[in-house]
Amino acid sequence: MNFKDYIRVIPDFPQPGIRFKDITTLLKDGQAYRAAIDALRELVKDKQIDLIAGPEARGFVIGAPLALALGIGFVPIRKSGKLPGETVEAAYDLEYGKDRLAIHSDAIKPGQKVLIADDLLATGGTISTSIELINRLGGEIVGAAFLIELSYLNGRDKLNGLDVAALVTY
Ligand code: 5GP
Repeated sequence: MNFKDYIRVIPDFPQPGIRFKDITTLLKDGQAYRAAIDALRELVKDKQIDLIAGPEARGFVIGAPLALALGIGFVPIRKSGKLPGETVEAAYDLEYGKDRLAIHSDAIKPGQKVLIADDLLATGGTISTSIELINRLGGEIVGAAFLIELSYLNGRDKLNGLDVAALVTY
């Protein structure tokens, strides 16, 4: 399946000059969504993974079904102030903007093997911050999986050789 056919590119969203990759057109197609999760599962199936962690909000729509497909648990990484329990937090830069991410302090046990999942790798800021949070809890990050990689933003270079899987590259 050519997943690019299901992704809509919207110019000048959320700011002039950004060509936003809209995955809602893929998500609403049951076969394409299923095929994307199956393809991601195939890419990571040889890894030993205890948990998937995904940043809100689109990391949930990729990470949670991937966790279900692998038969493992899912840990949400959220914007500051959203998680009810004790958290650890870190500031991060986006392709456009700045924010803080948080994870429950007890979400990951030291030594657990964690795969990070999100819809899209752009500058790598979101994933670097997710990595920082998981590292602070003592998790061992075994890789990252994305639907889309924007290779022209060189996000991989920020990830210190982390094993990155992506279905579609722009
Ligand atoms: P980064 O932190 O790598 O610069 O940006 C990636 C994050 O921003 C991801 O969590 C992703 O959901 C969001 N993002 C940035 N640009 C786009 C885009 O063009 N399409 C989508 N779907 N998400 C984007």
